[in-house]
Amino acid sequence: LRRFYDPLDELAQVANSYASASAALEKISGVLEEEPTVVEPAHPKPLPPGGTIEFNQVEFRYGPETPVVLPKFDLTIPAGQTVALVGATGAGKSTIAKLVARFYDPTAGSVRLSGVDLRDTADEDLRTKVVMVTQENFLFSGSVADNIALGKPSATRGEIESAAAAVGAHEFIAALPDGYDTDVRKRGGRLSAGQRQLVAFARAFLADPSVLVLDEATSSLDVPGERAVQAALETVLTDRTAVIIAHRLSTVLIADRVLVVDGGRIVEDGSPADLVAEGRGEFAALHQAWLESLA
Ligand code: ADP
Repeated sequence: LRRFYDPLDELAQVANSYASASAALEKISGVLEEEPTVVEPAHPKPLPPGGTIEFNQVEFRYGPETPVVLPKFDLTIPAGQTVALVGATGAGKSTIAKLVARFYDPTAGSVRLSGVDLRDTADEDLRTKVVMVTQENFLFSGSVADNIALGKPSATRGEIESAAAAVGAHEFIAALPDGYDTDVRKRGGRLSAGQRQLVAFARAFLADPSVLVLDEATSSLDVPGERAVQAALETVLTDRTAVIIAHRLSTVLIADRVLVVDGGRIVEDGSPADLVAEGRGEFAALHQAWLESLA
């Protein structure tokens, strides 16, 4: 049976890596095209420690001819808070996340981190303070160790292994054919969806940013895999600010705060427990639907 499924599996893997490679390319070219709008300041202000995020009257549109995606958006996320963004496709969740990571600048208003307008920060400073983990960047080519070390290029093998151990990934990595040196694109180095996510979390843990922006994978994971990912996520969230585009109920429930986004506006804002207890809003309905889908 295994032999029978293997070629299909392989084909799916190739198709997947092709899709993610082209997505990554699109992303890179998108960022390059965007470069004139995200300009490094001549005299950058250093980012102080801390991770308070503030959106002040932020208006955002993707281009001069395209509609306003965020109209006069205000939001303060205190340092250390885990915020889950939920809402329909097209609501504006990714846009909010990308503004936090300064993929774009607002068309009006400002986004601040620790009080500093992101437009006043040096790119390198910002990249070490804000790390974005998306489904597209779970894995790059190279060894497992290389993939984790992207979070801190100067890391020693010991630091890489400690980061992997912290998120519960050490065991499965050590069991790979070449351990940490296993090429993730080669036969035998193929990782499950959950394992790829753990590697991305190990990378984020090693990078140790003040702010983590996470676009959670929508792909269905097997239950044990999902538990491991959940535990890793909780570890990575400790002691930092996090903005998560959440697709799983289990994630939403560990957030300090849920923001329901609709049409570029926050329509509900509260702890998951409070929003469920209120019982009337969109989150309560979503929560109910989630519970039913799990039953
Ligand atoms: P969500 O993450 O909640 O699905 P998005 O932030 O991706 O929502 O999208 C919000 C709105 O912005 C949608 O109307 C979407 O079509 C539009 N949008 C998203 N990305 C782009 C883009 N690169 N160019 C133009 N419009 C975009």
